[in-house]
Amino acid sequence: MDLNYSSEELAFRDEVRGWLAANLPQELKDRAHLSKEDLMRWHRILAKKGWVAPAWPKEFGGTGWNVVQRYIFEEELGYAGAPPLIPFGINMCAPVLIAFGTEAQKKRFLPRIYQGEDFWCQGYSEPGSGSDLASLKTKAQRVENHYVVNGQKIWTTLAHYADWIFCLVRTDPTVEKRQEGISFLLIDMKSPGITVRPLILMDGAHHVNEVFFDDVKVPVENLVHKEGKGWTVAKYLLGYERMNTGRIGESKRELRKLKDFASSKLADVRFRDRLTRVEVELMALEITNLRFLDRMRRTGQPPGADVSMLKIKGTEIQQALTELAMQAADPSAQETIALEKKYLDMRKTTIYAGSNEIQRNIIAKMTLGL
Ligand SMILES: Cc1cc2nc3c(=O)[nH]c(=O)nc-3n(C[C@H](O)[C@H](O)[C@H](O)COP(=O)(O)OP(=O)(O)OC[C@H]3O[C@@H](n4cnc5c(N)ncnc54)[C@H](O)[C@@H]3O)c2cc1C
Repeated sequence: MDLNYSSEELAFRDEVRGWLAANLPQELKDRAHLSKEDLMRWHRILAKKGWVAPAWPKEFGGTGWNVVQRYIFEEELGYAGAPPLIPFGINMCAPVLIAFGTEAQKKRFLPRIYQGEDFWCQGYSEPGSGSDLASLKTKAQRVENHYVVNGQKIWTTLAHYADWIFCLVRTDPTVEKRQEGISFLLIDMKSPGITVRPLILMDGAHHVNEVFFDDVKVPVENLVHKEGKGWTVAKYLLGYERMNTGRIGESKRELRKLKDFASSKLADVRFRDRLTRVEVELMALEITNLRFLDRMRRTGQPPGADVSMLKIKGTEIQQALTELAMQAADPSAQETIALEKKYLDMRKTTIYAGSNEIQRNIIAKMTLGL
């Protein structure tokens, strides 16, 4: 096993680091809340460089980087404090279209996703159907050359910015195996009958929404893969690109900032002890991540279910860093308001993208055979 980067990989890291230092606008760095314009501005800077969709096949605009280079790139973005690349178009819808879409769908949607012309959101979760996603009820009934969609999605991140939503819908409520009645539809957010309502989270920010569908007409050409095969598409998506869930670069940056910010608190033995433990856990997570990479580099195989541990540990570390920042904060200082918002905002990380309890179930079932 080789956990060190090769000299070529180190050179690549320096190239990315140098480019980010020169091209990441100062005013976009380290921002907690970014507008749609901010997010798309960063998207377009990366698109212009040809680095916005590293994992796509080269013919569609991918960089041709191997798995280690892609990982290094992601970590450097986090370490530099770059805005997040909103994953719904680039990392979710596009890979699905590349794998399952018709030629017409690829031609219509991929260039617009690459250039940041369409903003996408993800319509999976419904009230009562989050972890138990296969119980979803939003109905799509085929009527001649379109589907009529009725139902509700919830927790839809940035739906208020979105031009399009990809949805799991129930096209056949009669099948015995409920997964077989689900289909994957692309829906124009401007369609009549769609209502987006904000959900304000406990940090006071508007990121997520409820989306209601009331007799929404969707042309049949917006069905991806076959009718009733939406679960196959969803499973493919969940397994796709799970290597950056640890967010190590971002946590390293937060740790460095915390050490500066909490320097006077370091004299407190208990605080120092907690901080050191988090730092050690972050190092252990990085080594675990490198082990996964080494295995993928050697075997060419995608990671197994045990990659879920990166999400569990990575999000726990993200949360622990904000807890430590709150412990070190001066309650009367103005900057504490921002720390408080971040602390509250980070509570979501152990819930979204498959809650940590569900990730543990996956490890127990797939790896430990329980
Ligand atoms: C900030 C945020 C953004 C999100 N963005 C999106 C989005 O853009 N699109 C989208 O479709 N969804 C989105 N989600 C929804 C997210 O995927 C769900 O919240 C998540 O899957 C959990 O589902 P739930 O909220 O229905 O909770 P539930 O499934 O009801 O779970 C409640 C609790 O019970 C636990 N639990 C449930 N089942 C089990 C089990 N079998 N074993 C052990 N524990 C269990 C869970 O871990 C959780 O702690 C977002 C969520 C959040 C918080």
